[in-house]
Formats: sequence, C-alpha cells, structure tokens
Amino acid sequence: MRKPLIAGNWKLHNTVEQSCQLAQALVNDLSDVTETEIVIAPVFTALSEVGKICTESPVQLAAQNCHCMDDGAYTGEVSVPLLADVGCSHIIVGHSERRQYFGETDHFVNVKARAILKHGLTAIICVGETLEQRESGELFEVIAAQIRGALEEITAEQMAQVVLAYEPVWAIGTGKTATSEEAEEVHAYIRGLLHGSFGTDIASQCRILYGGSVKPGNISELMAEEDIDGALVGGASLKAEDFSAIVRFK
Ligand code: PGA
Repeated sequence: MRKPLIAGNWKLHNTVEQSCQLAQALVNDLSDVTETEIVIAPVFTALSEVGKICTESPVQLAAQNCHCMDDGAYTGEVSVPLLADVGCSHIIVGHSERRQYFGETDHFVNVKARAILKHGLTAIICVGETLEQRESGELFEVIAAQIRGALEEITAEQMAQVVLAYEPVWAIGTGKTATSEEAEEVHAYIRGLLHGSFGTDIASQCRILYGGSVKPGNISELMAEEDIDGALVGGASLKAEDFSAIVRFK
C-alpha cells in the first residue's frame, strides 16, 4: 500500500557539472520506473541545473537542508520558497550530520519541518541513535524523543507530506548496516509511535525509510521487512549504476 521511496543524499560531493552528469545518467536509467518514488539531493549550487534535467522524469529533486524563515536578514541561509523555486519537491531535515556538526536540535528540526509543510513540500525527517546510546539501552527513548520533537504541532493532514528516515548514526558511512531485523524493530516502534499520536490511518500510510550503508547487495533484504518503505542512500547514491540497482531492488 505504501509506495516505496528511494532517496539519494549526495552530501557535500560533486560540482555542478558532475552533479548534472550523474542526474542525467539516472534520468536515462530510470525513465521507466513508476512503482518506486525516486528522489535525489545534490548540493545547493547544483539544484537549479539538476532540477532542469529532472523535469518530466520520475526523478524528483530534494535539498539537504533549509532555513525555517521565508526571507529576511538571515545571511547564508536558503529558504523553502527558494528551494521550491528551483524545483525541489522534498527537503531532508534532521540528518545526523547536521545534528552532530551543526548543533541542530529536535526543536530546530521541527521548526524547519513545519516551514517545509507550510509550503506544501515533503519533509524527509531523519532520526537515529548513536552507538553509545544503543549500547546503553537508550535506543527507544532517543528515537521517541526525536520523533515527538520533530513532529510537534504537525497535523494529521500534514503527515501526508512527511517521510521519516531511521538512520542509526553508527551505520552511516561506516559500511556497517543494521541487520534487517535491527532496522525493522525500530521501524515498527516508530510506526507504533505514529499510531499513538495520529491514529491507524496515518501510521499505516507514513513511509519510513532506512538509511546507513544501503547498497545494491542489502536493499532487497531490508525492503522485505514489513515496516521498511524505502531507503535514504548516501555513498552508494554517488554512482548511477549502484543507485539505479537500489531503485530496482526487486
Ligand atoms: P551512507 O549514508 O549510505 O553513506 O551510509 C546515508 C546517509 O547519511 O543518509
């Protein structure tokens, strides 16, 4: 019932030219895909050009971050309306790298998510525990606090524009994937939280992606789990061949 979504997070990689080449390769490879939603998130400077390449293709455009204010004296920031203007339909918020290196709190993630939803874009909200938190038995507590914090004041209606991504910090860029059972345990827990806050319909409709060292070799196993609805892919999204194979996981 939930349409799978595979998103590529290109992080701080690729010039405009390299981004365009990668996007063009994906548009060529994936033009026939209808059963899976495809999203790519290049660096800010490449969004506009990549957006043009993706027009009229199944590949949708995402930004990796945004500011919560629409305009004004906020030096160095990029707003949701400006991202929509260059063709973004999705924005990633709360990535663990932003939480870790740029001090983003659950509250800030929530404020950004609300700005995204206000403008009718889709927010891909990331949550995930560190290895230390997992080992000290705080896993579910951490996930619950991040989910509740990120979704504060978001209405049931707006939840149609929310995609969640569970990304255990210890699995990001480390080559260490959570086993599909470990991931499913947290995905099912998150769906339970949604059930408690928004009811059965929203909980069963909301897509929850897994992220952390997803590659062509492990995507099928992850996607076989009941509550895993797609993936947020970092490293493996930088090679057209690998990302296309992940999109065609079946
Ligand atoms: P990775 O990154 O696939 O390179 O582990 C995932 C992410 O950070 O979204």
